[in-house]
Amino acid sequence: AASILEPQSRVQVDLSAFGQNVRTLKRLIPTSTRFCAVVKANAYGHGGIQCAKTALENGASFLAVVRISEAVTMRHAGITAPILLLGEALPEQVSFLASHGIRASVADIQAARALSAAAQALNTTLKIHIKLDTGMGRLGFLHPDVGISKSGNAAGIRQAAGIAGLKGLGVEGAYTHFAKADIIDKTHAKEQLTRFNEMVAMLTDMRIYPEIRHAANSAAVLELPEAHFDMVRPGVAMYGMAPSDEVDIARHKLTPIMSITAKIIYVKAVPENFSVSYGCTHVTTAPTVIATVPIGYADGYSRLLSNQGYMLVKGQKAPIVGRVTMDFTMIDVGHIPGVKPGDDVTILGPQGNERITADDIAGLTGTINYEVTTGLTGRMPVLH
Ligand code: PLP
Repeated sequence: AASILEPQSRVQVDLSAFGQNVRTLKRLIPTSTRFCAVVKANAYGHGGIQCAKTALENGASFLAVVRISEAVTMRHAGITAPILLLGEALPEQVSFLASHGIRASVADIQAARALSAAAQALNTTLKIHIKLDTGMGRLGFLHPDVGISKSGNAAGIRQAAGIAGLKGLGVEGAYTHFAKADIIDKTHAKEQLTRFNEMVAMLTDMRIYPEIRHAANSAAVLELPEAHFDMVRPGVAMYGMAPSDEVDIARHKLTPIMSITAKIIYVKAVPENFSVSYGCTHVTTAPTVIATVPIGYADGYSRLLSNQGYMLVKGQKAPIVGRVTMDFTMIDVGHIPGVKPGDDVTILGPQGNERITADDIAGLTGTINYEVTTGLTGRMPVLH
């Protein structure tokens, strides 16, 4: 019997293809290098818990998230693998972090002192990874070449020396993040790599010995082997999407794992001069058939697709007509015979010989594939 909760539109994620992608990426790194699956933001919209579990079953041994709430979700789901918090950790969170094997990132000495004090008060040790800014300009102790002026208050690497004397903290790792590893010209990425190696050497001089050095995002896993170090941190490529249009993932046989489908809920034959949706921005120039699809910007389906995007019906492209609304989007199916309510629509993914990729949607909406999948709002169920 159909459930009363039967979704009108849904996100379907192919976990076996996901596992395959993880294994494919794993084959690119040395066996001694750990694989940290980046499953932040609900695994880029693909379902955090299921993707984390599948990644761990296919060779990952570490997870990375940004918010502590994401790590809590993992622990509640029974996932016991070490989790690195890429974002900020607060002293009041230390008890939970330390007792649940969650590693904190430390990007400045004040934060390190506060975490150390909290850990000492609890008589515990918090594992930390020192974040190094080698050219991303976001978070981390700065390399002397990057942005440290005499008058500036930026947290230079010298400040990290203070970490060596802080009780209650155990330095497990040191890491950096690339700003431009996803372009063909790897000059900037290689500069970052040089700075990273120098900064790790500086830490050693300060008697700080991170066991796990890590830097590689997906682009660097695929194209910068010298950045693999002791652990890699791929995200987007696991989900079968390219880090940019300058990185060829098809060559590595990485395949997309998400599709979004819905059922047509309404079909009408309309005359010429019939206007569709808010603002009447589409007016038919000939009699045609319009179908209504239950997906809208409240699901994360961008309003920028209005009069731009298309969906697949019976293996054919059906253009979006008029504005995408909060809950519904209209498509023109006049050229596709026999369309009726209940017919399947593919919004993302393959149908017949056609396929709509996150890159296609990103191209139409002026963004990147990352935002297309992470931008899903969670109203549609993610089925695995
Ligand atoms: N490491 C950090 C610190 C990140 O912020 C991200 C994602 O943005 C990743 C790794 C994974 O990057 P990608 O999805 O490009 O592989």
